[in-house]
Amino acid sequence: MNRIDFENPSRQMLTDWLAEEDRSQREWLWAMAGACKRETLGDSIHLRGLIELSNECARDCYYCGIRCSNKNVDRYDLTDEQVFAAADFAWKARYGSLVIQSGERTDSTFVQRITRLVRKIKQRSNNELGITLSCGVQPLEVYQEWHEAGAHRYLLRIESSNPDLYATLHPADGCHSYEARLCALFDLKKAGYQTGTGVMVGLPGQTVFDLADDLLFFKDFDVDMVGMGPYLEHEDTPLYALRSLLLPQEKRLTLTLQMISLLRLMMPSINITATTALQVIDPFGRERAVLAGANIIMPNMTIPEVRQNYQIYNNKPGIQDDAEISKSHLEERLRKMGIAIAWEEWGDSLHFQKKALSLRRNF
Ligand code: SF4
Repeated sequence: MNRIDFENPSRQMLTDWLAEEDRSQREWLWAMAGACKRETLGDSIHLRGLIELSNECARDCYYCGIRCSNKNVDRYDLTDEQVFAAADFAWKARYGSLVIQSGERTDSTFVQRITRLVRKIKQRSNNELGITLSCGVQPLEVYQEWHEAGAHRYLLRIESSNPDLYATLHPADGCHSYEARLCALFDLKKAGYQTGTGVMVGLPGQTVFDLADDLLFFKDFDVDMVGMGPYLEHEDTPLYALRSLLLPQEKRLTLTLQMISLLRLMMPSINITATTALQVIDPFGRERAVLAGANIIMPNMTIPEVRQNYQIYNNKPGIQDDAEISKSHLEERLRKMGIAIAWEEWGDSLHFQKKALSLRRNF
């Protein structure tokens, strides 16, 4: 089988690979996807310094530790100064880009604050920092406002492309609906963002057919960026009651690597994140994901005083670390695995750039 066979795979082919139990076969796939990443995007990976702006969230997703009905969480909202200090760190550390992630709020105070923060960070860094937002489902006008302020990438996970499985993860109301999430993804494209989405791997009740459909969903949607991580349970969530149905963690990690490799071979020029959830299962989980085809890592820059309060899942790694320690630990791990970092670059999605170029040519 060669690489071309993976560009338009059948559902059966994907499910066969996801169900593959032969370790040497899986390692062959990871190596081929790693080679595909290097040939398409180069040897290095790109970094996005992560700022967890606030754990205040108006939503109640059944899997998430910071859902609004979890009363065991101390809520926080970083000050503007704390955000700017983190952004300055990313700039001086030559990360090239940052991500502002937050619980989902749609009130005007929040919307205007994001606009202001994005504008200021662009000014303070002489437009040298690229900004990705991950602030949930918003109206098209809000996405446009933030894009005009200077954010140019947006992450909004669909979590599962199977509407029935999605429904087991969210309350049955308009705010949380599958349709609203899908509509928001189309709005992000309309607003001009490099659009990213993603799913959890190893959810209770999820099958390899669901995962194959997730991969086909990414391809059909023509996504620019993807973040996939193993599902990790949090004890203060309704989904925790189903933990007896879960695959062992190592299996969830292996499946995630299979997903990353298959997607890299299906869509060679997109950005794929090696998510922090992988590091919970294996200290080198993110680096293994890079060798299997991922090209983005998001070192945490949130101040240690509040890191423990942004736990979507249990046992988040590096809770006591500050931005400097997170950076040096990551550099050390990457060095051990022979992975280079592309400093001072935005690391935009080549897939998005190619689409934009072909649009211009056809105009
Ligand atoms: S997953 Fe996101 S939107 Fe859902 S409860 Fe958690 S932070 Fe809020």
